[in-house]
Order: sequence, then C-alpha cells, then structure tokens
Amino acid sequence: MTRRTRHLSGRRCLLAIACCLLAMATARAEHVLYDADGRRLEVSVSPRFPVDSRQQITHWAEQLAHSLTLVYGHWPRQRWAIEVETASGSADDPIPWAQVSRGDTDRVSFYVVTNTHTDALAREWTGYHEVSHLLLPYRGWGDTWFSEGLASYYQNLIQARAGLITEQDMWQRLHAGFVRGRDDTRFDGLSLISVNRQMRRNGGYMRVYWSGAWYFLAADLRLRQRSGGSYGLDNALRDLNDCCGEDALSVPEIIHQLDAASKQSVFSELYTQLRNATQMPDHVPLFAELGITIAGDDVVLSDSGAAAQRRRQFLQSTAL
Ligand SMILES: [Zn+2]
Repeated sequence: MTRRTRHLSGRRCLLAIACCLLAMATARAEHVLYDADGRRLEVSVSPRFPVDSRQQITHWAEQLAHSLTLVYGHWPRQRWAIEVETASGSADDPIPWAQVSRGDTDRVSFYVVTNTHTDALAREWTGYHEVSHLLLPYRGWGDTWFSEGLASYYQNLIQARAGLITEQDMWQRLHAGFVRGRDDTRFDGLSLISVNRQMRRNGGYMRVYWSGAWYFLAADLRLRQRSGGSYGLDNALRDLNDCCGEDALSVPEIIHQLDAASKQSVFSELYTQLRNATQMPDHVPLFAELGITIAGDDVVLSDSGAAAQRRRQFLQSTAL
C-alpha cells in the first residue's frame, strides 16, 4: 500500500560507497548508492531530461541523500528511492511539485522543470524539506503540523551541516519562517489542532507549519540544555528510528516514544503547550537562549559566550 504526503510547492563521508549505472531497458538513468550501514538508495532520473542534465540532477540527488545522513548517520529505511520526473514551468521555480510516498520502499518523487540549472536546484529548499520527512516513521493522517514542522526545521539544519548554507543563513531562514507563521494571524484564537484540521479547506499553512517547527526547535534546545549538549533531537530521532522506523504510528504514539527514548517528558510537555496554543508561539525567547537577537528583519549572532557556543552546536549532530 502506498501512502502519500504532498507538497506544492563538516563532512563525514558516508555515501558513494558504491554507485553504479544500471542499463535499463527504458534508458532511465538509475544509480544505486549505499550508506555506511549498507542501506540502499535507488536514484532514477527520467530519460526525458537531456543527458548532461541527468548527470547534474543525479549529483543533486546524491547531495540530498548525503545531507540526510547528517542527522543520525544513516538513512531512515533499509531501502528508499528518489525519482525525478520532468515538469513544465519557470526555471525560477525548479521543483514545482514533490511528494513522499510511504510503502515497503519509501519514495521521494520530484517534478523538475526541464530547463533547470544545477545552481538553481542546489539553492532550492524543497529537496531538503522532502527528504527530512523520512526522519519520522509514517504517522498516518492528520496532525500535519508535526511532520511539516519537523521537515521545515531540519531542511535548514541539514543544509548548514552539509556546508551548503552558512550558520547565519540557517538562523535567518528559520527566523523568516517563524515570522511567516506569526504573521498568519487569520485563525488566532483557535487552537493549532483546529487550524490544522481545516487547513486544506481554509488555509493557515504558515501557522501550522511554523508552529510545528517551533515545537522541534524548542524540544531540541531543551534536550541539549539538559544534557550539556550531549543529547538532542538527533538522538531522539535515531532512537525512534531504531524502535519504530518500520511502523505506522500516530503523533501521540511518536511523542510517547520520543519521551521514552530521551527518558524525559520534553516532547509531551511541549505537545500539551502547543496543541492548545491559540496563536503562533514566539521564537524570540528561544533565539535569545542561543545568542541570537533580531535587528529589523535580520538575525544578529553573538560571537562569544555560552549561548553562542550552544548555538554553534546545532551545526553538528548530537548523534554522530
Ligand atoms: Zn512537507
């Protein structure tokens, strides 16, 4: 059975242990890669792309896959796939459509405009967002805030960890997202769960997505503070993957497992706080604990002190 979620749109070398070009009857370019744990990824690119574009797109997909190992060292599933199909559209919006399909093999499908350029793909956040969805076991339907929040948070962390954006860019992008969530005020007064339930019909996407991202930043920060930087969200997700990566769990079940893994109640406490919140929580106090202040529309990062040291640790996984 296939389950889908859809979207409109320091290097520790664990990849490229093996990469081979398989001659497919369809002339579809298919590369097979393995991570350090021997987990397998198949990358296939539509033959409708020009040959040189296919090579560039395959390289981009390898970058996405590598970035995903910068959370807990291996890919979430024993087998997964990235498929890239052609799409029509503007080169300014190189990935107009993408989706994650869950099944025996998790599949991330990208629809990429045929006249795209590698640089445009490399700058596009969508790819990093989509692969970040795989960090959670399949959660069933509902509670979009949870999976979208995790992907919105990690898309920025894994790009910075892979050296594709700077630390400044990472926090700036997170700040910009939180501001979009805060500015989505149409449903203030309603709980996050209420807004989430009616989101596809009435909107409120930014409130839902960025409330979720706030949840994971708050949880990550609290775990790191309590452990002196030795245990964070990366560890909790690895433990969740170890126990339940093949399972279909509801969000309350995932939260229970995350609390059990971390031997604390951080996730359930924040869940209670957030699910009843009637507006987007404020990220500025969280940023202050990381030596980040806001000047106009920009983040300002402190250079020294304990908060700055704590902040820089987000550029490394606590699980590696
Ligand atoms: Zn998403």
